[in-house]
Amino acid sequence: MWRATSWNPPYIHLQCGCGKEWGLEDMFFCFPCSKALCPYCVTEEIDSFYCRNCMENMPNTEAFAFKNKCARCFQCPACFSTLQILLNSTRQQKLYHFGCQSCYWDSMSLGLFGNSLNELLMSNQDYFMKDNPLQDQLKILIDTYKEACRNRRKIGVKYLQKETWTFEDLENSVQPKPLINPVQRIEHQSPGFDELLNEDINYNEITSMQQRLSNAGAQPRELNKASAQPIPLLTRRSKRCKYCKKYVVKPETNQSFSNPFKMENLLVYFFPRIYIREIKSNSLILLLINPTAAVAYIRLEGDKVPPSELHLDSYDPVMDLVTSEGSSLDESLIIEREKNTISIEVGKPSNDIWISAFWKFMRGQDVKEFEIKIHIKLA
Ligand SMILES: [Zn+2]
Ligand SMILES: [Zn+2]
Ligand SMILES: [Zn+2]
Ligand SMILES: [Zn+2]
Repeated sequence: MWRATSWNPPYIHLQCGCGKEWGLEDMFFCFPCSKALCPYCVTEEIDSFYCRNCMENMPNTEAFAFKNKCARCFQCPACFSTLQILLNSTRQQKLYHFGCQSCYWDSMSLGLFGNSLNELLMSNQDYFMKDNPLQDQLKILIDTYKEACRNRRKIGVKYLQKETWTFEDLENSVQPKPLINPVQRIEHQSPGFDELLNEDINYNEITSMQQRLSNAGAQPRELNKASAQPIPLLTRRSKRCKYCKKYVVKPETNQSFSNPFKMENLLVYFFPRIYIREIKSNSLILLLINPTAAVAYIRLEGDKVPPSELHLDSYDPVMDLVTSEGSSLDESLIIEREKNTISIEVGKPSNDIWISAFWKFMRGQDVKEFEIKIHIKLA
């Protein structure tokens, strides 16, 4: 995942109430608490699952039943793009098979085809179930644990009903449990270095780690043995504030809306973006950009910072218009003002600068105000 938080100086981070530092784009804003929240101060929950190809939404139970994979879409075992189902029709018969439009991988070479769509899907399922020695071992393990689980439940009920334990119960409880036969390790001699060098291998035909793991059942060594895989589902997640339990990010499940989020309170939409424009010998020129749709105010506290409240106008880039203007207590503290951007000078006592910012912005009819610590690290 792309992150704005960088630890290579120079950087500007914000400090969350919990004490951790983050880049602006990684943080959230909770309106009921008037608080900036870091990713550790929000809890995440899965709203629904969806397929990246057919965009079909699936509730949790259905997704679990299909092992978090789409039942209709498949991905190429070589390049992971979505496979097309192709029809090869001759006068005698119709053959359905998978084909990749990007790398021309074709399932016909594996003998994977069907006279109907259903037959193709069934033969694909059979293909990656077959020849897997671990399949049987895993089945034994699952059966044994299921049986043990059932017995424990029975015993539990029996002892709950009885009031006292007898010597016989104690003896029964320490009886050795039936053991699962452990899998015998097959001694395998790894090939030597010379052997590997002399081996006649076409390295373009060997699967990469990613290709092998995406075919988890068979984990084939050669690419021509890997088969089409169902596409893993992605998740839509909502985030809640850890303190008041209200949503800060809520995805839209109805696909007919063009906006993918019902609510998306990222701090970057409400707090000014801050950039370093110039580093002088004992001061810094900072650039502050107001992201909100109304005039906003900032007051800074720290070593040699502008001592009074400054205003940032709002600007609409679509209309190319300053949409609301305010007034600062002392405009002379601003070096330059353009649209929704101001540049100011702050002191540079060391390469580690801490400034407290009090930010006041409009949201509808409400005025929101909060404090956050800015950490500027220069080297
Ligand atoms: Zn935090
Ligand atoms: Zn799908
Ligand atoms: Zn491909
Ligand atoms: Zn909250």
